[in-house]
Amino acid sequence: MEHDITIKQVTTGKTKPDYNHLSFGKYFTDHMFVMDYNEEDGWFDARITPYEPLLMDPSSLMFHYGQSVFEGLKAYTSKKGGIQLFRPEKNFNRMNISSERMSIPEVDPEFLVDALKKLLHIDRDWVPVEEGQSLYIRPFIIATEPALSVKPASQYKLMIILSPVGSYYAQSDQMSPVSIYVEDEYVRSVKGLVGFTKTAGNYAASLKVQKKAEELGYDQVLWLDAIEKKYIEEVGSMNIFFKINGEIITPALNGSILDGITRDSVIELLRYWGWNVHERRISIDEVKQAHVDGELEEVFGTGTAAVISPVGRLKWKDEELVINGNQTGPVSYDLYDTISGIQTGAKEDVLGWTVP
Ligand code: PMP
Repeated sequence: MEHDITIKQVTTGKTKPDYNHLSFGKYFTDHMFVMDYNEEDGWFDARITPYEPLLMDPSSLMFHYGQSVFEGLKAYTSKKGGIQLFRPEKNFNRMNISSERMSIPEVDPEFLVDALKKLLHIDRDWVPVEEGQSLYIRPFIIATEPALSVKPASQYKLMIILSPVGSYYAQSDQMSPVSIYVEDEYVRSVKGLVGFTKTAGNYAASLKVQKKAEELGYDQVLWLDAIEKKYIEEVGSMNIFFKINGEIITPALNGSILDGITRDSVIELLRYWGWNVHERRISIDEVKQAHVDGELEEVFGTGTAAVISPVGRLKWKDEELVINGNQTGPVSYDLYDTISGIQTGAKEDVLGWTVP
């Protein structure tokens, strides 16, 4: 797939927001990348244009049957100078995996990494430089064909938009643990459905339960398997890890959870450090028993937003497990320190993950 990318730049950039008060995904940069698809031409008209609203037909298939996929990754100002990305090809490969399941045409990942680099070069002034801040990157594809029949669309739009985001952890509040509510009524997905994809519907269906968790005083939801409501799947937008009696366990990729890029990086790094990491089924009862036995040493979530989120409290039915005295454990801390250090160029990229 070879395309030229046409570029139309703004004459005057927008006023930048106060980078000390960036909430997630609220401000967008001056430019965006866009490409269209139709059956005759395949993907065509790759372009970088000023960031602006779209004009769409109300019958566009995306609005009705939800045919869409998205990704999320970040660009960081490197301590060594320049801007760097963290394993971006993995995001575009994963977008293709989502697309394949959602009957959306695939896109050459190498071309998209290249397009992203060009877009970042144009909006390079928007990449934050302060510790913990980054430029969040949101690639997505929507079905644009105007039609109301339930079928794979024949027209799509792929876009990449950029948003400066603040530190997930407030400076004073280094890695405070999150509280998690284990959902026992609703489910997120099941093998055979679309849980392994980043498609809008997975997130729409989770909102009601996320709200319920918040009303009960918890930060996020932990989902269990849909059939037995017994085995642990993942958190709303994170994969989850348990350290039990000196070993690390994370749910295996079973078709219903997302193949997180942070998850993959954590497994690789832990193995590089010599830890035993098990990707297998783990039940909520096993976690509870480990807690009773005093062997539940750490629990943490992994994802692009926070890198590592230590879990301090886990609510399951009538019980609340307090983990490691509701403090960040050493493995969680070392993983955060190392991966965020690699992302920002403060630490040596021993596993070859960054892309300038
Ligand atoms: N699970 C879900 C459902 C997610 O939305 C995310 C965020 N992309 C993750 C896990 C973590 O994935 P990653 O490490 O690639 O951000």
